[in-house]
Amino acid sequence: MSEENCIFCKIVAGQIPSQKVYEDEHLLAFEDIHPQAPVHVLVIPKTHVPTLDDAAPEHGELLGRMMLVGAEVARVKGVAHTGYRSIVNCRESSGQVVFHLHLHIMGGRAMGKMG
Ligand code: AMP
Ligand code: ZN
Repeated sequence: MSEENCIFCKIVAGQIPSQKVYEDEHLLAFEDIHPQAPVHVLVIPKTHVPTLDDAAPEHGELLGRMMLVGAEVARVKGVAHTGYRSIVNCRESSGQVVFHLHLHIMGGRAMGKMG
């Protein structure tokens, strides 16, 4: 399912360019356009799920795959040993601005405690 006007669905469809890091049947990972850390990659499902709050039990396998691909991206990017952060923002208060589920993989610098 693809949503009209969803920027990440357009990236999946190849209508907007991205710097791909990983792709398989279910998931795509690409460089964040405004990186907040030396390594900042987004892992997204190819299907349109707006937020984590919209995830249902049938998305369980997809969510697990997202985490595993995030870990693989961190290894490929060389931050698995130094450490990295995996973040999913959900809705406005979290700072979510793109309403297509995505996992941030951020590393390569020290990050403070989350407050
Ligand atoms: P969030 O605040 O969790 O919704 O994060 C959305 C992320 O998507 C931000 O870190 C943006 O920099 C990133 N972003 C927005 N548009 C693009 C794009 N066209 N290509 C890559 N990353 C993008
Ligand atoms: Zn979408």
